[in-house]
Amino acid sequence: MDTIIRQARLRGRDGTWDIGISADRITAVAERLPEEAAREVDAAGNLVLPTYVNGHIHLDKCFLQETMRPNKDYTFGECLELTWEHKARYTTEDILERAGRAIHEGLLNGTTVFRAFTDVDSIGKLRGLEGLLALRERWWDVAHIEVVAFPQEGILRDPGTAELLEEAMRLGADVVGGLPWFERLRCKNSQRNAMARRLPLLAQLRLPFQTGGR
Ligand SMILES: [Zn+2]
Repeated sequence: MDTIIRQARLRGRDGTWDIGISADRITAVAERLPEEAAREVDAAGNLVLPTYVNGHIHLDKCFLQETMRPNKDYTFGECLELTWEHKARYTTEDILERAGRAIHEGLLNGTTVFRAFTDVDSIGKLRGLEGLLALRERWWDVAHIEVVAFPQEGILRDPGTAELLEEAMRLGADVVGGLPWFERLRCKNSQRNAMARRLPLLAQLRLPFQTGGR
């Protein structure tokens, strides 16, 4: 056994328990495990739970409001324009600083898994993606960060995005996303077919498509 967590309180059970872990698996739970492990952690009677998972977070946009100009018209359209101004200027260092703060806050509150979306489009191109790949590398030992290359401005509505998504996958994105409800507002059948021809590449990957909206 590699690790034993001693004296843990568990949900739905009275008393305290020892949790034995081998590699990345829980292999034993008992009121008292007699063996010793290479690593012993004393939970001191505190509650031990599985990690929280944040399944949808835009880490490249965290804390942008600190430097963002106010929304003058209070419209959704202006909100989008405000983010365009920022994502056109992202730097990896800037993202590491802002997103790092969000990861740190998450860890302090029990979240260690993050599915992080970043816009891939003709405005910011791969700036956000490069920032999140660096973030994944920097925090790999304490946080699991899954990087989603997300075509926020659409694939059909924003020419060049399909090529950027392919490049994003080559660079190391874990997942490609999509926003079909946004595409269908203006695209024609021939364009849809063109996108479908690209799907063999995209279909090799996990695809969190957002089909809601409007
Ligand atoms: Zn989102």
